[in-house]
Amino acid sequence: MGIPGSGLAKGLAVTLRTMTRRSHTAQYPDAQPELPPRTRGVIGLFEENCTVCMLCARECPDWCIYIDSHKETVPPAAPGGRERSRNVLDRFAIDFALCMYCGICIEVCPFDALFWSPEFEYAEEDIRDLTHERDKLREWMWTVPAPSALDPAAEEPKEIGAARKAAEKLAAAEAKAAEEAKNAGANDGTNGAAS
Ligand code: SF4
Ligand code: SF4
Repeated sequence: MGIPGSGLAKGLAVTLRTMTRRSHTAQYPDAQPELPPRTRGVIGLFEENCTVCMLCARECPDWCIYIDSHKETVPPAAPGGRERSRNVLDRFAIDFALCMYCGICIEVCPFDALFWSPEFEYAEEDIRDLTHERDKLREWMWTVPAPSALDPAAEEPKEIGAARKAAEKLAAAEAKAAEEAKNAGANDGTNGAAS
């Protein structure tokens, strides 16, 4: 059995030790938290990129992405071609009361239509208001941070390499054509002087 009152003394010692330390409590909302730029706050939808492929809704473990669409017939690109059909988005909504912020929907989207925004201040008094429809998801896009810069040692993106090669080829062809035109002009001058 320990000395009577030793427990109390230990407790007071802990109190005294922690009393002098700096507090970690942040007085939110007066003090805003310093969050990493890639914080998973809310999901933004870049509607123009969405092809209604349904991959995000199928892969979401919580089944909290709701998508409705209809098909539209698009006239052929060239006369005599075949008509094509495409999906048109009618509804895109995410229920943030169910979402567990796993990010699977963003990872699987093949068309870069979903993005993380660090915004987190969207608490609601009515849980139904946590279902964000497409307009609200579109608004979140304005709060998505710009992509981070490429690693200077990274391999050049294939698209940039292909564009550079095409530009170099075009410039070489133009230079060759200009040279040929110059030579043809010089030859004409020589022939004219001889005759
Ligand atoms: S973050 Fe996860 S849970 Fe939330 S909508 Fe996307 S896939 Fe579903
Ligand atoms: S995965 Fe991307 S493109 Fe497909 S429905 Fe979802 S947001 Fe749209």
